[in-house]
Amino acid sequence: MKFRHIIGLLILITSAAAATPVIQISESAYAIHGRLASELRAQMNAFGPMESGRHFDAYTHWNVKWHFRYQEENRICRITQVTVSADIQSAFPQWADYSLADKVLQNQWNQYTQRLRMHEKNHSANGADAAVEVENKLISLPPLRDCQQLETLANNQAQQILSKYNARDRQYDIVTMHGQTEGVIFP
Ligand SMILES: [Zn+2]
Repeated sequence: MKFRHIIGLLILITSAAAATPVIQISESAYAIHGRLASELRAQMNAFGPMESGRHFDAYTHWNVKWHFRYQEENRICRITQVTVSADIQSAFPQWADYSLADKVLQNQWNQYTQRLRMHEKNHSANGADAAVEVENKLISLPPLRDCQQLETLANNQAQQILSKYNARDRQYDIVTMHGQTEGVIFP
């Protein structure tokens, strides 16, 4: 997707007890124009990020990667090192004509974008939580006799955790109707 501005790139190291995945959060914006609520709605409908054939006002995507090393010793194979990272990307509308609009609409917009951000933040939390859980899982895998088996097990476990958090994202959107029940409604 073609977003015009990269607002910020932030790298956080989470401080969970055992796991310390690298969480990289980036945010982009797409510009919308107009001075009326109806114009802004039309612009978001037209230019909002596409997802499954439909435009959304905002989105958050996350991608979790894992790497591990293992070592075989005395016919026992164990994981010796684990690295996990989450790349989290969000996109939001940026109202270019904000300063030209009247106060009432500005306030309405502020409230809307605040709720929108809160909703997207919950999606990104799922990505970060997934990374922590993957790292904890890989760190705690018991040694096996066969390194190949250990590798397959580790990858399957990580994949299962990602599926769980993907389902959590989908469920969150079903329950909140993509944020509508949380007040993410404009105008
Ligand atoms: Zn959502």
